[in-house]
Amino acid sequence: MYEKILVPTDGSETSEAAVAHAIDLAEKYEAGLHALYVVDTDSMSLTLGGEQLDRIEQGRFGEMEEVRERAERATGYVADRAAERGLETVEHISAGRPHSQIADYVDDNGIDLVVMGSHGRTGVRRALLGSVTERTLRSVRVPVLVIDED
Ligand code: ATP
Ligand code: MN
Repeated sequence: MYEKILVPTDGSETSEAAVAHAIDLAEKYEAGLHALYVVDTDSMSLTLGGEQLDRIEQGRFGEMEEVRERAERATGYVADRAAERGLETVEHISAGRPHSQIADYVDDNGIDLVVMGSHGRTGVRRALLGSVTERTLRSVRVPVLVIDED
């Protein structure tokens, strides 16, 4: 049923809970596992200067140590947990609006299941769903499994 599973992760505890579900499904379906972290340019525009934002939008966030480390920690967590079960992970980092980047990644890579958290790092826990999750549900045509645990 599922051949390529994507976990979009912001490194939050809730997205880490989603990782366990994604890995279990990848194992059962013998599916490929992909981890995507999006450097959120909208939220960063509040705190970063114009020059730094330009750099990120050009995909040159690798030069910005703190941004790169956060991204690599998030996708690396998925890869480490998967490796413990003998699975390989395709890790990817991009920049833009998270839900748009997630939808593009789904289209470009033939993803047929998305597994993500109901909440993330920034949101108010009592809100029904985080905005990235809500917008992803509206933006992709493949099934999305939403995990509400932490
Ligand atoms: P909000 O961002 O609307 O204030 P929130 O942070 O609680 O609320 P979301 O951002 O929607 O909630 O996070 C829900 C899930 O979306 C996360 O568990 C993660 O799976 C995914 N996600 C959120 N941000 C990113 C991101 N920058 N890159 C990849 N995946 C993300
Ligand atoms: Mn968020």
